[in-house]
Amino acid sequence: MSCYRCCNPLLLKALDFDGGTSQDKFAKMTTETSIHSFNWKDQVLTNRLMIGHTSLTHSHLLSKEPPLMCTYCSTLLTVEHILTNCSHYQSSRQKYYQYFYLSNIFQVVPKKSLISFIKEINFYHQF
Ligand SMILES: [Zn+2]
Repeated sequence: MSCYRCCNPLLLKALDFDGGTSQDKFAKMTTETSIHSFNWKDQVLTNRLMIGHTSLTHSHLLSKEPPLMCTYCSTLLTVEHILTNCSHYQSSRQKYYQYFYLSNIFQVVPKKSLISFIKEINFYHQF
């Protein structure tokens, strides 16, 4: 199974993960999130969204269960699906952002808006 985070060069560029040391990357992420005075859970959630690995979407790897499918679309439930194209969350998404590519979402959309969107669709405690 491929990961959109690892395989998407645009997202890597948006996250600036294609250059710099690990410490630089961590410092950048930590600084960016502290500017917005996130709590720890918000920061963890934001980081999980950016790497595309959440408890909800990847718990099957540990449990050896089949991966979760989107209840509404009958497609594989991924962070990308939730953030970009699940039709069930479209109206909620449009309240917080109107981008269809992860690279745009992580580059342009304020992280507080992403958190608000995740809370509104009731995934906050599942990520
Ligand atoms: Zn869906």
